[in-house]
Amino acid sequence: MGVTRRGPLPAGGAAAYDVVVVGAGVVGSAIARALARHPLRVALVDAADDVGDGTSKANTAILHTGFDAVPGTLEARLVREGHRLLDAYARETGIPVEPLGALLVAWDEQQRAALPRLAHKAERNGHRTTRLLSAPELALREPHLGAGALAALEVPGESVICPWTTTLAYATQAVRSGVDLHLNCRVEEVRPGDPYHRLVTRRGVLGARHLVNACGLHADGFDALLGRADFTVTPRRGQLVVFDKFARDLVRHILLPVPGPLGKGVLVSPTVYGNVMLGPTAEDLDDKTATGTTAEGLAGLREQGGRILPALLDEEVTAVYAGLRAATGQEDYRIAAHPALRYVTVGGIRSTGLTASLAIADHVLGLLADCGLDPGPERPLAPVRMPNLGEGFPRPYRDAGLIARDAEFGAIVCHCERVTRGEIRAAFTSTIPPAGPDGLRRRTRARGGRCQGHFCGAELRALSEEYGEGTR
Ligand SMILES: Cc1cc2nc3c(=O)[nH]c(=O)nc-3n(C[C@H](O)[C@H](O)[C@H](O)COP(=O)(O)OP(=O)(O)OC[C@H]3O[C@@H](n4cnc5c(N)ncnc54)[C@H](O)[C@@H]3O)c2cc1C
Repeated sequence: MGVTRRGPLPAGGAAAYDVVVVGAGVVGSAIARALARHPLRVALVDAADDVGDGTSKANTAILHTGFDAVPGTLEARLVREGHRLLDAYARETGIPVEPLGALLVAWDEQQRAALPRLAHKAERNGHRTTRLLSAPELALREPHLGAGALAALEVPGESVICPWTTTLAYATQAVRSGVDLHLNCRVEEVRPGDPYHRLVTRRGVLGARHLVNACGLHADGFDALLGRADFTVTPRRGQLVVFDKFARDLVRHILLPVPGPLGKGVLVSPTVYGNVMLGPTAEDLDDKTATGTTAEGLAGLREQGGRILPALLDEEVTAVYAGLRAATGQEDYRIAAHPALRYVTVGGIRSTGLTASLAIADHVLGLLADCGLDPGPERPLAPVRMPNLGEGFPRPYRDAGLIARDAEFGAIVCHCERVTRGEIRAAFTSTIPPAGPDGLRRRTRARGGRCQGHFCGAELRALSEEYGEGTR
């Protein structure tokens, strides 16, 4: 069956699954991929028309080491493990990742005094390679840093990664290994039953022996469909500013602030696409759809960014966006097995879910076994090699051999991001083709540059029609 986006779901036995994973963000997709290693009938379903269309598309894109996690928590363990797993997986599948390392910069005496404590915390989290840097050492590392930086803690291993390719790689590998992906498929009601729960969706009914809730911001609402009320998700908005590629030479590391009570604070970081990012804010809201940016939020970011890297403010802004963290009032994930319901909740995956995704998936497989799932023997997954979106690795427009074999990889459509016709065609003929312009951007970077599609929009629309936008 593969990927479905419209029309009624298959009826009868075809819609009866051993496991249904609800939510195709980075977490649900990683879980579906882990399940695909076993001879199980698995479905991954999402309310949206694409994978990774929730919080997973709008974050800071750092592959964290977990140096600053609360030691002893589940999150600390899964972030540490997830970092190792995703770093290896990225290299294997072509997800762009750059191990730039982070500098945690102290701007006042109180922050400077906190650095040795943070180094100790990092050690308790298994990271023994951090190092304190004096102000002159720091200035050598980051010559454009603002005045008043007193010292820093260097954290090797902190990396930047492409979040879009990550979710897409997991989901692609899951589908190629036999998982059915049903999109535009919001689960609106769950009728618990034995041996199958019945999931009433907008496109029909699915049967699930076992159920995984990977609904992100809506994990509490989904829990309620099964009569549970273990936590409430409060969206914590993070607004971000993306600066143009000319800013890239201003910064060499991920520049982190000393963390405060509201989280990791505002950072300045290169991106794998060759831009510089500033953010995120941390605003507790009660609206789970409030992904807009605000003049106040952006002004606050500019003020803080100007202190960290003054020259940044002279650079042009390419885009602004916001994502919502699934905060639950607890400094840890809310992952729980409910054996009587044959159900696992994967909630509260706040600000580290991209990093921890592969480790969360392994953990959830263990919990499903506690709920009575016998996964059967392991088998190899179908291989995947993702198109490279990273500036630090060869891209098609620079690959003379590829262009000689297929001239479409030499025909640039999006000139800001240097995306070729060949890449657009490849996206539309891939395992999970895009459903619209935003999905195409997350697969190719087309329309993601300084003109935001002003110049290439018409040609991209024509190519979408030619290659069959969302035909599956
Ligand atoms: C500003 C910001 C910065 C961040 N920075 C980082 C970072 O640098 N590094 C890092 O590791 N993490 C970071 N994170 C955290 C990371 O982005 C999240 O932890 C992760 O994306 C959560 O993924 P998820 O799959 O749980 O949720 P989501 O991506 O939100 O996926 C949940 C999916 O469930 C679907 N869904 C919900 N209800 C239903 C239903 N009833 N039926 C069907 N489908 C449903 C939704 O459509 C959605 O697609 C950041 C987050 C934010 C907001």
